[in-house]
Amino acid sequence: MLAIALFVYFKNKYSLDSKLLLFIALAFSLWTFFDIILWTNNDSRNIMFFWSLINLVELLVSVLTLYFAYVFLEKKDVSFKFKLIIGGLMSFFVFLIPTKLNIASFLLFNCEAQQGILLNYYRILEAFFSFWIVIYLFRKIKNAINTEERKKTIFLSLGVIFFILSFSGTNIYSSITTQWEILQYGLFGVVVFMSFLAYLIVKFQAFNIKMFGAQALVVGLIILIGSQFFFVRNFTNQILTGITLVLAVVFGWALIRSIKIEVERKNQLQEMSSRLAQANDQLRKLDNAKSEFISIASHQLRTPLTAIKGFISLILEGSYGKISAEIKDVLNKVYLSNERLIELVEDLLNLSRIESGRMEYKFEKINLGEVCQEIYDTFVLRAKEKNLDLDLVLDKNLAMEAVTDRNKIREVISNLVDNGLKYTPKGGVKIKLTEVEEKIQIAIIDTGIGVPEEEIPYLFSKFSRGKDISRLNAGGTGLGLYVGKKMIEALGGRIWVQSAGANMGSTFFIEVPKEQGEGE
Ligand code: ADP
Repeated sequence: MLAIALFVYFKNKYSLDSKLLLFIALAFSLWTFFDIILWTNNDSRNIMFFWSLINLVELLVSVLTLYFAYVFLEKKDVSFKFKLIIGGLMSFFVFLIPTKLNIASFLLFNCEAQQGILLNYYRILEAFFSFWIVIYLFRKIKNAINTEERKKTIFLSLGVIFFILSFSGTNIYSSITTQWEILQYGLFGVVVFMSFLAYLIVKFQAFNIKMFGAQALVVGLIILIGSQFFFVRNFTNQILTGITLVLAVVFGWALIRSIKIEVERKNQLQEMSSRLAQANDQLRKLDNAKSEFISIASHQLRTPLTAIKGFISLILEGSYGKISAEIKDVLNKVYLSNERLIELVEDLLNLSRIESGRMEYKFEKINLGEVCQEIYDTFVLRAKEKNLDLDLVLDKNLAMEAVTDRNKIREVISNLVDNGLKYTPKGGVKIKLTEVEEKIQIAIIDTGIGVPEEEIPYLFSKFSRGKDISRLNAGGTGLGLYVGKKMIEALGGRIWVQSAGANMGSTFFIEVPKEQGEGE
């Protein structure tokens, strides 16, 4: 028991609980030492002397246990006032030790001492301390703030209560009934439960129990094998024992070393993961701040942009007088640039709506064939300007009706067609509608720059843009596909891309259910 306590003490020299555990072990060892003298000595003067002291040591063990439990759980020392009161109770006992009130006489022939009134005083005190510890521990368990705290308190309580039961309990019981065998069982318990308390210190003070276990195992094994030398007489057996001992030392050393490395790695990992968690937290806060900023900024941007659009339209229509063809041409360019700006602001607004969960969806029965026709009509001119073909493939026999949000789905398909035209230098774009089981599938197939396989997983992420697009000089934010994916998912559908690779064209698919499920 002393060995365990010393081990824990040297691992945590500066912690009060490991010091207290060492004191408990010292007090208990002292008690055992006195007890051995009591049972083995024949000189009644020696027996009288140690018998008068042993009760004080016993009391010391229970006071120290209470002190230990408090320090272990509260992580602080008890107040000075408190120490004075307990010290007072104990010193009162100390002064009376050499008097007749403690041990009046000792009869060697039947090994019995005549004990005075002080015995009752010490029993009451010991019982009082024991109850105090139990009540204190129960209150701590009840008021524990989290499960970790509660677990720790329950473990400690079990250790401490069994420790007290096996030491003070069996002691008091034996001295009342004079059945001293019970006390002997109790003494074994004391060692077991003190080892348990040592384990708790080790476990909750963050140095690794595995290490402790391995060291204890190896030392135990070496002692066990070494002790064989005292019993083995035969020379061959002595050599065999010697070899076993050397092997145990070598493998034991290797085991301890490998565990040490593992423990160090684990500690490093733990530290790294806690740093990562902090960084992650920081990132989340930044991300929130960014969303907030985007939302405010885009709302402020939208109003003046709409005003610019309105005024340019009025000028172009001639509301402010006739304008020259040259100015008209310039103004048209201003108008188009302004349109792109409005689109961009709209993308950012969509992003902030999605991220704050404020995007609203309106479900109604619509004809997707009609929607695609409208989109085709809007883009056919732009395709022609770029010398690209734009096709719409519809199966006239199919209804193509779905319950979904008309504006949202149109926005997503338009964006895909827009992308198709943007990222296709030659060839064309095809919009194709089909019905697949209970769903409608819209495919936007182009013959453009395609998507390299390694980019596919990131394509639908926020602000993600392919690395090949720079040479196309195509404007954009990398938000369209992200917003589209969020919208389609909210509509109960899915969106994905297929491409044979760079410059092999790409096909974007949208699939939406014809009917919306319950509660949507
Ligand atoms: P943006 O077009 O504004 O960059 P998107 O989210 O719409 O943003 O698209 C993200 C990226 O996906 C594009 O930057 C491009 O690299 C790639 N991409 C989208 N559509 C196509 C397409 N039809 N062909 C090839 N690449 C595409």
